[in-house]
Amino acid sequence: MSEERPRPVQIAVYRRSRVMRVGWSDEHESEHPWEHLRWNCPCAECQGEMGVPGRLRFTERLTEDQTSMVDAVEVGRYAVQPIWQDGHSTGIYSFDLLRRLCQCPECRSAAATGP
Ligand SMILES: [Zn+2]
Ligand SMILES: [Zn+2]
Repeated sequence: MSEERPRPVQIAVYRRSRVMRVGWSDEHESEHPWEHLRWNCPCAECQGEMGVPGRLRFTERLTEDQTSMVDAVEVGRYAVQPIWQDGHSTGIYSFDLLRRLCQCPECRSAAATGP
């Protein structure tokens, strides 16, 4: 077994089903519904920083523009940065975070039953 952390080898954005799919170096296939990704946007504006709550704390629903992904670009070999239709693009999802957010049936049932 290699100690190396899995990294994305392929990132694809599917407009019709509104998901981003990530193929990993360990052959896992991640599924990321856009809306779920946007709710987990790790930027300071959305999540807050240094004890100050972010915008998402006070948001009950997101608009269509906020949950529509225009593109996803790889950042410096450690993260993925989605570009959203409302112009938001400051959320940098590290590969670790992205993998934790995976919504494929396998990961979801693992999260539900716990370790
Ligand atoms: Zn954000
Ligand atoms: Zn998964």
